[in-house]
Amino acid sequence: MNFTAALAAQRQYFQSGATRPLAFRRMQLEKLSAALDRHEAPLLAALAADLRKSAYQAYATELGVVQAEIRTALKHLTRWATRLRCRTPWLVAPARGWVQPEPFGLVLIIGPWNYPLNLLLAPLVSAIAAGNCAVLKPSELAPHTASALTALMRETFAAEFVSVVHGGADVAAGLLRERFDKIFFTGSTRVGRAVLAGAAPHLTPVTLELGGKCPAIVCADAPVELAARRIAWGKFLNAGQTCVAPDFVLVQRGVRDRFLAALKNSLLAFYGADARRSADYGRIVNARHFARLVSYLRDGKVFHGGDNDATELYLAPTILTDVPPDAAVMQEEIFGPVLPVLEFDDLSEVVSRLQAAATPLALYLFAQNRTVEEKILAEVRSGGVCVNDVISHMIGTSLPFGGLGESGFGAYHGRAGFDAFSHQRSVLRQGSWLDLPFRYPPQRLSITTLKRALKFLLRG
Ligand code: NAD
Repeated sequence: MNFTAALAAQRQYFQSGATRPLAFRRMQLEKLSAALDRHEAPLLAALAADLRKSAYQAYATELGVVQAEIRTALKHLTRWATRLRCRTPWLVAPARGWVQPEPFGLVLIIGPWNYPLNLLLAPLVSAIAAGNCAVLKPSELAPHTASALTALMRETFAAEFVSVVHGGADVAAGLLRERFDKIFFTGSTRVGRAVLAGAAPHLTPVTLELGGKCPAIVCADAPVELAARRIAWGKFLNAGQTCVAPDFVLVQRGVRDRFLAALKNSLLAFYGADARRSADYGRIVNARHFARLVSYLRDGKVFHGGDNDATELYLAPTILTDVPPDAAVMQEEIFGPVLPVLEFDDLSEVVSRLQAAATPLALYLFAQNRTVEEKILAEVRSGGVCVNDVISHMIGTSLPFGGLGESGFGAYHGRAGFDAFSHQRSVLRQGSWLDLPFRYPPQRLSITTLKRALKFLLRG
C-alpha cells in the first residue's frame, strides 16, 4: 500500500497554516462532538458487535470519555496555547523570551482494539487542539468500530485534515516507513518496540501507551470488602480487556480468605450466578485470545468461575489461587477475565517481587497506613498509582495518564494531551538599542572577572 501521495496532501494542508488558528481548532472539536452525538447509535452498535459492550458501558468508557476530552480542550484551549513568558539573563539584555506551543504537523495515531473508539479519539482531540493534522490507524481486531469510525470521520473532516487507514500489522508497518512529525501509539509492549524502531530513521518523537501486569496489593488493614468490590469492578470491566485492569492481587495472608469470599460475592452481585446472561459482561475479542486465556485455567486452582464457551468467546469471571510464580499466567499480561490471587506475609516481599518485575502501567495499593503508602510509592515504580481504588487515576482529564519503562513513556489526557502533541518552542527576541560588548573578541577580561560577572549576568 502506498501512502505517500495522501500523506503529502495532508502535509501540504498543514503547511498551508489552515489548522493553526484557535478558532479553526475549536470548530473542529465542536464538529467532532456533534458527530459523536449524531453517530451514537451506530457507534454503540459497533462496540456491541466487536466486544459485546453494553450501551451503558460503551458510553461511559468510550464516547463519554471523548466528549469529556473535547469539553476540557474547548474550555482551556486559549490558556494552553498561550505563550509562556520566561525571564532572560542580563547577559542577553534587553531580550525578551517565551515558550510557544507549536503543532508538530502531521501525526500518526495507532490504536488497539479494547477501547477502540476512546483510544483513537481521545488522542485525536489533543492532536486537533494542538493544531495538527492526523492519520488514524484503528485496530483490525475491532472491525465494526473501525468502519463506524471511518464513516464518522469522512462525514466530519476533510481527508487532508484527518484520514483513516485500515489494516493490520503490514499496513501499520507500511505507515511507519513514512515520515510523520509525531507518533502516538497505544498497544502492546512488543509492538511498541517495533513502533519506536520504525520512528528512529526519521527521528520522529513518539508517545508509547503500552500494557503490562498491573498489581493490586491488599494489606491487612485495608477495608477488605471495599477493596474486593473495587478490584472486581476494575478487573472484570470489558471482560478484563483493559490496560489498567488489576492483573493480579497480592493479599496479606491474614485477610486472604475474607478477601476471596468478598471478591466472589461482588462477582455474584455484579453478574449473577451465570455471567453469560448478564448484559454487563463482555466477550473475548477473538479465538486466539480466548484459547490463550482458557489455557491459564491450568495454572492454578479455580476458586470461582472457569466456565467457558468457545462458540460465544465467553469466559466467566475467574479467580485463581495457588498459582506458582513461574506459571504462564504470572509471566504474561493476562488481559482477560482471569484474576490470580497470591498471598504475602511481609511488605518487603511485595517490594522485592515488584522491583524485579517490569514497570507496570498502574499500581494499586489498598492500605490505611500512610507509612506503608509512602514505602510503596517510594520503592515500587509504575506509570500511575491509585491508593484504595483502581483505574480512577485515569478517569477524567486532570491527571496525566501514561506509562514508564515497559509500560511506555509520555502521557496524555487534558493539558498533558495538548502538550504531547505540541513542540515547546523557545523564542528569544533581541532588542537593537543595546549591544553589550563582552561577547565580542578580542577578550580583555580576566577569567577571574569573567567568573564574577557571570554570577550576575547569568542569574536565573
Ligand atoms: P497490539 O500492539 O497488538 O496492536 C495495537 C495496534 O498496533 C493495532 O492497531 C495493530 O494493527 C498495530 N500494529 C500491529 N503491528 C504493528 C507494527 N509492526 N507496527 C505498527 N503498528 C502495528 O495491541 P492490541 O492487542 O490491539 O492491544 C492490547 C495491548 O494494548 C495490551 O498490551 C494493552 O495493555 C495495551 N493497551 C495499552 C493502553 C494504554 O493506554 N497504555 C490502552 C489499551 C491497551
